[in-house]
Amino acid sequence: MKIVVQKFGGTSVSTKERREMVIEKICEAKKEGFSPVVVVSAMGRKGESYATDTLLSLVSDKLKDENKLCIDLLMGCGEIISTVVMTDDLLNHKEKAIPLTGGQAGILTDDNYGNANVLNVNPENILEVLKEGNIPVVAGFQGISKKGYITTLGRGGSDVTAALLGVALNAEQVEIYTDVDGIMTADPRIVSDASLIKEISYNEVFQFADQGAKVIHPRAVEVAMKSNIPLVIKNTLSPSKGTTINNNGDLKMDNIITGITHMSDRTQVRVSLKENNQNENYYELLNVLAQNEISLDLINVFPEESVFTIDGKDISKFDHIMKNLNLLYTYTENCSKIAIIGSRIRGIPGVMAKILNYLNKDNIKVLQTSDSHTTIWCLVEGEYTKQAINALHIGFKLGEIK
Ligand code: ADP
Ligand code: ASP
Ligand code: MG
Repeated sequence: MKIVVQKFGGTSVSTKERREMVIEKICEAKKEGFSPVVVVSAMGRKGESYATDTLLSLVSDKLKDENKLCIDLLMGCGEIISTVVMTDDLLNHKEKAIPLTGGQAGILTDDNYGNANVLNVNPENILEVLKEGNIPVVAGFQGISKKGYITTLGRGGSDVTAALLGVALNAEQVEIYTDVDGIMTADPRIVSDASLIKEISYNEVFQFADQGAKVIHPRAVEVAMKSNIPLVIKNTLSPSKGTTINNNGDLKMDNIITGITHMSDRTQVRVSLKENNQNENYYELLNVLAQNEISLDLINVFPEESVFTIDGKDISKFDHIMKNLNLLYTYTENCSKIAIIGSRIRGIPGVMAKILNYLNKDNIKVLQTSDSHTTIWCLVEGEYTKQAINALHIGFKLGEIK
């Protein structure tokens, strides 16, 4: 049996018309001799009746903070509804289908609600459903704990379900269907002439996903990479061939820069030793932040000052810690950390100079930078995010990739 896992995101299953397109993709796979295993997300985006964020808005913040078991059960409902609606549509097309929850599909997790780790995937039920000539329609984003409670795998986690099933079923490939043509040189909502990247390596996509490009979940890339299963990102609403992710990707690109992505709502913090009158707690700060699970990035430690960024949602917890330590600090809220990604930037002189030139030309102030072998990061004030990404996209001629 040649299995293909086809995952359809929230926008792909949001309306009857779109689900018709989904059925076309499923039937095409069947015609090509594949046995499709379908994974679905909750229907629609925030504001639409059964979308995950809409379900979350039904309950109090107190429940959200204090009862993660309840919240996972609530969030799991969106995908379960979606499996039944999709199954109904398939049956109406005379396609035999059976809906399965994550647990019924064999996804066993720990009980780290909201971001559960998958302990095991047992594909027996899915294989049984396939053997009987049915299309399994699996609820993405969820599993079941040893105690039998529904757990979720982290926001955007239906991609992870698809990759895990791909590995467990030894699938020929995992197809992620969404509302854009594939992985682009930048988010097409930010850069109108972003180009489609036809082939790309697992490593580079992982950088994209990890640095904020929501088009695929970074854990899905990791899972597929470990087992070397080809991942393809495609548009449900178009016949475009999409983006293929494998290990050949890097060799085919001529550009030094592959693409640009960003993370918003970063807060830049400065703590100065002088301003804190040599308070000894200054030297303990990073330890205390780690103990309190506040993660930092763009960390620059100088003899007289430490500069780093934190997630905007952590600012009140951070402020509380600083007051306890009796440390003063200054901060800039609502910054964006822009990531300029390219596995070929390693060892090439002048890339940072170019980046700064393009941003300076547009009068965009760079608050901080950092770099690795594959990525250069620039922190800018949030209001300049779109302008900065577009300036870099034009500067590196990313709209001209064929
Ligand atoms: P789904 O519901 O199908 O999982 P998501 O909203 O999670 O869809 O991901 C698709 C979205 O990712 C696109 O609508 C696009 O705005 C966004 N995106 C961000 N960066 C990129 C990129 N580099 N290439 C393509 N899409 C991107
Ligand atoms: N519905 C879930 C979310 O919104 C999972 C997903 O879409 O992949 O995060
Ligand atoms: Mg998604």
